[in-house]
Amino acid sequence: MKNKKIGIPRALLFYYYFPFWLKLFSELKIEPVISDSTSRDLLDGGVKKSLSEICVPIKVMIGHVLNLDQKEVDYIFLPRFRTIREDIVLCPKFLGLPDMIRHSLPSLEAEVIADVIEAKSDDISQFSNHKNLAEKLEISKTEMQSALKKAAEFWQRYRNLLYQGYLVDDFLGVEKIEVLEKLISKFENSSKLPQSQKEELNSSTTEEVVDIALIGYVYNVYDQYINMDIINKLKEMGVRVHTFSMVSEDIIEKELAELRKPMFWEFTNKLYGAAEHYFKNQKIDGVIHLTAFGCGPDSMLGQILEIDAKDYDKAFMTLRIDEQTGESYIITRIEAFIDLLRLKKEQ
Ligand code: SF4
Repeated sequence: MKNKKIGIPRALLFYYYFPFWLKLFSELKIEPVISDSTSRDLLDGGVKKSLSEICVPIKVMIGHVLNLDQKEVDYIFLPRFRTIREDIVLCPKFLGLPDMIRHSLPSLEAEVIADVIEAKSDDISQFSNHKNLAEKLEISKTEMQSALKKAAEFWQRYRNLLYQGYLVDDFLGVEKIEVLEKLISKFENSSKLPQSQKEELNSSTTEEVVDIALIGYVYNVYDQYINMDIINKLKEMGVRVHTFSMVSEDIIEKELAELRKPMFWEFTNKLYGAAEHYFKNQKIDGVIHLTAFGCGPDSMLGQILEIDAKDYDKAFMTLRIDEQTGESYIITRIEAFIDLLRLKKEQ
């Protein structure tokens, strides 16, 4: 493996597992190459090579793989996520992702490492999920198992901070593991509250603080380019943002237990559980469902959320993003929604 470069696309579940992967590679003494942040050029590159009807997050992913290929990496780390809950799979796009990439980019120079991820929970640190990676990197089973264990522990510390109210945004952009480790330790030892817990968001705002649950897949909620930086726009409007990553697995499980049958796709289930939790929370003024054009699972989830929002008498809005989404569309929609919530609070 000496002198070989491994690339990680900054797309899809990167926004869920990046601390795990950064720690894993650091323990293996490998510095991965991470693709650049999403940009117009990067997205256009992905769009050109994609089927037009595919959802925008997959187009984004194709753009990121192309970006890594331009950086002349030898391998692209692209696990095939099959399941992270017993008897439930992920959206079919995840199941077929490595094949879709190979098909869309036949002249890809880098070799795709596509271990199948089959886990009973979000903990994907079992060796069986990384066998192929270990072989390619010429890492022994013992060494890989030890690195996986440390990566899982590190990821759990990060998740505990999310459950306390930190946003994934608070950690993104930190690609050096040493910096991320310091940041996590700093937050663990800090007596300061994360933004979602603070009583006053911005002392300069004279308007009342509004609490919004922003429900969407991590790659839609935290890719600032694709969602036109919605989190910061909301914060500037005096909104406290709550996301599904802040809801613990226990709470999600409890909400899912109330369904006669969970949905077929795991992250859709997680979003459902988080949304139900926020619907019941009196502190939350409104819920925004951030969804991508062409998302099959969300067409079902969106309908359910709309009905449940009415049942809970919670203000609800769907924001659909695609490769053409403009900043003015996002600003106009969220401004109108926040104004409505403020009026409601004043009544
Ligand atoms: S869940 Fe929706 S947005 Fe995500 S990959 Fe599947 S179809 Fe695309």
